[in-house]
Amino acid sequence: MSDRIFLSSPHMSDEGYEMQYIKEAFDTNWIAPLGPNVNEFEKEFAKKVGAKHAAALSSGTAAIQMALKAAGVGEGDIVFCQSLTFSATANPIIYQNAIPVFIDSDYETWNIDPNALEEAFRKYPNVKAVLVVHLYGLSADMDSIMEICHKHNVVVIEDAAESLGTYYKGRHTGTIGDYGIFSFNGNKIITTSGGGMLVSDDEERIAKVKFWATQSRDPARHYQHSELGFNYRLSNVLAGIGRGQLKVLEQRVEKKKYIFEYYKRELSGLNGVQFMPINEWNEPNYWLSCITLSGPVRPLDIIVALEKENIESRPLWKPMHMQPFFAEYDYIGGEVSEKLFENGVCLPSDTKMTDEELERVAGIIKRLF
Ligand SMILES: *Cc1c(COP(=O)(O)O)cnc(C)c1O
Repeated sequence: MSDRIFLSSPHMSDEGYEMQYIKEAFDTNWIAPLGPNVNEFEKEFAKKVGAKHAAALSSGTAAIQMALKAAGVGEGDIVFCQSLTFSATANPIIYQNAIPVFIDSDYETWNIDPNALEEAFRKYPNVKAVLVVHLYGLSADMDSIMEICHKHNVVVIEDAAESLGTYYKGRHTGTIGDYGIFSFNGNKIITTSGGGMLVSDDEERIAKVKFWATQSRDPARHYQHSELGFNYRLSNVLAGIGRGQLKVLEQRVEKKKYIFEYYKRELSGLNGVQFMPINEWNEPNYWLSCITLSGPVRPLDIIVALEKENIESRPLWKPMHMQPFFAEYDYIGGEVSEKLFENGVCLPSDTKMTDEELERVAGIIKRLF
């Protein structure tokens, strides 16, 4: 059988940048959380996305929890959260003992529907934060969302875990709200094997997050703690991988876009096939190429046919309000996120894919129609 084709797998630079930074860490014995790679990675990352300050953390999930904490979200507070997303968006709301209220998406962006958000504010006027996601590298309708959130004086946290390299009206996603979070998990557009970043223009809040994330150690010779601490900082070795990966981000976006355009050319004419929405104000990173199906061929037909050929694909995220764990929480909106889940497929979008492999994938799908 041919080699497995992945949805999205780690792709280190051809130049070996990552190894150079790792070697530096070894040569200087900075095998620790924190160190020069972490400081430089934060600076280089903030510059790349156009944020003033950044904190490198152990995961995107940790970054979301720290953003919520920085926003003052605590016990019993209500947080509006996009329903169509990975569970890592919503779990930190529970870690903070807060209460999620899930919000539907719209077909134009696949992300939070501003109308559903307005409706949610009518039902819950006292909300601490809104968690908006830029799913699959598509940006949410940020102008409308920011306008609504400003009106209600609510903190906006952007989950940009999947959208590093995505721009909304020329601004990098994750830098439009009060806080932005990114992930460097193995399947993301660049990876440190595991890791995350929190960005904000608020210097004091980012400093505070770094304090919490290193066990809240008060400035004292002995170990003194006046606040609850966390061990959430990124390792200096992994930050070295991140610095190397950051240098090839544009290359990765270019290849992801090439993959999307290839599928679009090959599959657009098929009965019921529709591609994820690319808005004129959106410059996506095309992290995953996704389609929806309204014809006779169903998502599972494609997923099973590809799996038989050792090729990975998967449904779109199952909305949080449909998850057994989150069943008790409220949901505002209609059926859009449910329909997207029912009808969507993420196609293999690995940046290591060759033209021959793309042809194979498209061929298998076309034969189903
Ligand atoms: C990957 C991901 C996360 C979590 O990031 P980790 O680094 O894996 O903790 C959060 N939100 C979304 C939308 C993601 O895709």
